[in-house]
Amino acid sequence: MSSRRWLLLVLALLLITPAQAEWHREEVAMMGTRIRVELWHADPAVARQGIAAVLEEMRRIDASMSPYKPDSELSRINAEAGHGPVAINRELLALIQRSLDFSELSQGAFDITFASIGHMYDYRQRQRPDADSVRQALPAIDYRHVVLDHERGTIRFAREGVRIDLGGIAKGYAVERGAEILRRLGIEHAEVNAGGDSRILGDHRGRPWMVGVRDPRDENKIIVQLPLIDEAISTSGDYERYFDQDGIRHHHIINPGTGNAVSGVHSVSVIGPDGTSTDALSTSVFVLGVEKGLQLIDSLPEYEAIVIDNQGKLHFSSGLMQLRG
Ligand code: AMP
Ligand code: MG
Repeated sequence: MSSRRWLLLVLALLLITPAQAEWHREEVAMMGTRIRVELWHADPAVARQGIAAVLEEMRRIDASMSPYKPDSELSRINAEAGHGPVAINRELLALIQRSLDFSELSQGAFDITFASIGHMYDYRQRQRPDADSVRQALPAIDYRHVVLDHERGTIRFAREGVRIDLGGIAKGYAVERGAEILRRLGIEHAEVNAGGDSRILGDHRGRPWMVGVRDPRDENKIIVQLPLIDEAISTSGDYERYFDQDGIRHHHIINPGTGNAVSGVHSVSVIGPDGTSTDALSTSVFVLGVEKGLQLIDSLPEYEAIVIDNQGKLHFSSGLMQLRG
């Protein structure tokens, strides 16, 4: 090759490389899952600043809301709110209020007091409460036991034995907050993902982001690819945290009426404009099952859902049915 050709080649490479470098991506383990931030920005310094800010926000939320950290604000509530009002910060108060609103909306399917029994599970150790313990603790599951005082900024539990856990809503809240931080930095194309919860900002530079819904029984198989622009998507699945015993899958989504794992469906994906809502709704629809769950989604104009039942059959909300034609 002549030296002139070499020069042209080097110049071409120089022109191509910066464009590729404008996509940035980072993945870290946190909140019992993997947090992934992917974004586009012409200035790598802004991109790095954005990723760092999102991860910092996730750490902050985890430190306050984790049920596994003994010094989290959530753990303090669980230790003390059964004895009387506990002062909590406005952010936590607001997210607990939103959780209670989703309990009303889902007629009790979404219920953060599921943890009154949920805390007795240890999926890694294949441990679950026996029937007697479930029966005894069941009356403690009822979102109406959670009493918020917005003026004083306090929470209390109306009865003993109540515990709360924000696992069904906090990751959606975190990705929504993450996306908001990026937006404020002027970043227009991004995905913030926390396990089953994703918030998409803008498009993928001229085309939609493609988000896959996996086969609930084969993690390498994608069942549906969804083109998304400026949307949140949350998936609840019985494959996230579980153990199988005597043909029964004991997994992490609890029916508040029985205190046992829900059995009707394998996964639920909900798409809509707000990540906190898609997260709470995916858990709600999982508990409600195909028929009642899709009825709930069809009553919310901006939200759509895909349910995979326990036979592997797909069910779509009516808005998606129309798209499929
Ligand atoms: P997701 O993957 O969003 O469906 O969240 C599942 C998590 O929600 C579980 O790991 C629990 O922390 C929590 N959870 C389980 N059952 C319920 C329920 N009935 N209502 C609200 N949260 C729940
Ligand atoms: Mg959820």
